[in-house]
Amino acid sequence: MFMKIIEIKVLRGPNYWSIRRTKLIQMKLDLEEMEQRPSNTIPGFADRLQQLLPSLYEHRCSIGAPGGFFQRVNEGTWMGHVIEHVALELQTLAGMDCGFGRTRTAGTEGVYFVVFSYMEEDAGIYAAEAAVRIVRTLIDAQPCNLEEDIQQLREIREDTRLGPSTGCIVEEADMEYTRKGYGPRSQVPLQILLWILPVIKKKQNYYWKPLKYPCQKVPWCAMKKG
Ligand SMILES: [Zn+2]
Repeated sequence: MFMKIIEIKVLRGPNYWSIRRTKLIQMKLDLEEMEQRPSNTIPGFADRLQQLLPSLYEHRCSIGAPGGFFQRVNEGTWMGHVIEHVALELQTLAGMDCGFGRTRTAGTEGVYFVVFSYMEEDAGIYAAEAAVRIVRTLIDAQPCNLEEDIQQLREIREDTRLGPSTGCIVEEADMEYTRKGYGPRSQVPLQILLWILPVIKKKQNYYWKPLKYPCQKVPWCAMKKG
């Protein structure tokens, strides 16, 4: 194995790299021996990359025209830069259009900051790791299952998109709960209790306490802590 991820940071606000782009993955990457091997020195690398990810043709890179990135790979560029573009393209292919990237030296020989935009944090982190792995297999001329990674990214996207809407439902249930006055010590029907249970659990400032009246149908009530 060569090329080591030193750290992956999720940037969520104004940052060193961009004023406008606030959602960035910043990966610190040690190229190790690949520091001595830019893309043009690896036989067949550019062709394999082009074959695996033909849509990278759209990446204009510093050339500023379609095919620009491929031109850079053919002329010779370092693997951090290639990984940046692959990470962006993986996300784009999974339906998360991301287009900002930078790769700069981190001050130590062979160590780079590979920076690229994300739409969903977890997908961004996945893309960083997958891009390193994919570029490794391309260097080694090994087979690569790209579709599997794209499918993984799609699933991460779906999962994280479900998150906020579930959040909304809980929020609504919470409002309902407050509006109907099912406050502390009130004895609410079991069904409603079960319905609001996740809300109360979520709020965490409630706990469950058995009532002192065993004849009652609902033996529990929600008590506010403190
Ligand atoms: Zn570029």
